[in-house]
Amino acid sequence: MSRGSLRSGAVVVPRTRPDLADLPAYRPGRPLQAGTAAAGETFVCSSNENPYPPLPSVVEAVHRAATGINRYPDLACTELSSRLAEHLAVPVDHLVVGPGSVGVLQQAVSAVAGAGDEVVFAWRSFEAYPIVTRVAGATAVPVPLTPDGRHDIAAMTSAVTDRTRLVLVCTPNNPTGPAVTAAELDQLLASLPEDLPVVVDEAYAEFVRAEDAADGLRACREHPNVVALRTFSKAYGLAGLRVGYAVAVEPVAAALRATGIPFGVSSVAQAAAVESLRHTGELMGRVQALVSERDRVVAGLSERGWRLPDTEANFVWFGLGDGAQAFADELASAGLSARIFPGEGVRVTIAEPEANDRLLSVAASFPRRH
Ligand SMILES: *Cc1c(COP(=O)(O)O)cnc(C)c1O
Repeated sequence: MSRGSLRSGAVVVPRTRPDLADLPAYRPGRPLQAGTAAAGETFVCSSNENPYPPLPSVVEAVHRAATGINRYPDLACTELSSRLAEHLAVPVDHLVVGPGSVGVLQQAVSAVAGAGDEVVFAWRSFEAYPIVTRVAGATAVPVPLTPDGRHDIAAMTSAVTDRTRLVLVCTPNNPTGPAVTAAELDQLLASLPEDLPVVVDEAYAEFVRAEDAADGLRACREHPNVVALRTFSKAYGLAGLRVGYAVAVEPVAAALRATGIPFGVSSVAQAAAVESLRHTGELMGRVQALVSERDRVVAGLSERGWRLPDTEANFVWFGLGDGAQAFADELASAGLSARIFPGEGVRVTIAEPEANDRLLSVAASFPRRH
């Protein structure tokens, strides 16, 4: 046996990249453990998922696709790409479909950045950003949000140096909720080198109602350095199947495809996404119901004295600082699992009306407002 076999008793740790040792771990939202809630049903409000179950026709498409899973999926996601191209009115070669938009983001980061390069993004923002940056060997340059949870466009512009290879814009911003405005995105793009890639992560695009919000797809048409990132996980309710996509000009799209793992999007995921695009009317009706619930929650919180960042997504942010744990504990006692960012705040997904009612009642009796 070779050195270090278990039988010899010696402990040899095979070499891995030392710079991964202090990589922040992605913390998934979790259902509450049994017994946490004082009584009754519990609700998962911790991962910004869609509370609606999949449409029966989507489940059927999944079943049909399941009968062929002895075969590899379509590598190029041909049918899904052509449906998406039609749906978004973009050329099909501008599309890159991948295993969740996080997967496509990882493809984008590794297509443009490596050791010694910098990736600029707002912070606090989506927790995958520092992870994918550092997995690529690049350096994360987080730029603090404004006090009202918005991207600080001027500070982001100043953070760009000749080492910057990518700027990430999260709109609406996870976890705080505000959308970047079209004017802000224009201002940012006008001040950056035209050949510096800018990913506009629009995971919650379908929930945006503000008329002045940025539109990554439009920005893509006007600026060849913009990559718009969207997903089937949130509005379309397919988080468990892992399918998202980027829209970018052809040479950028080709670079993103080059860094993807072959066959990353399963046949089942492709079939479910294709079927979902046949039912956008019904699915967007559900999104509208969630937006109405969001409006109800925001109005209710405001009546109860809360001043929260404007949310254009399917969640609300309570920036309670050191009060975050106490608030999350109260929510858990009421049967809601929320996502806590210790010392910073609590993000709560807009979910079933009953869950939203419980959120309002916990917030009404919580002693602090900020
Ligand atoms: C949820 C989310 C995603 C989506 O990730 P998928 O990999 O598509 O499930 C991407 N970006 C942000 C900001 C998110 O909140």
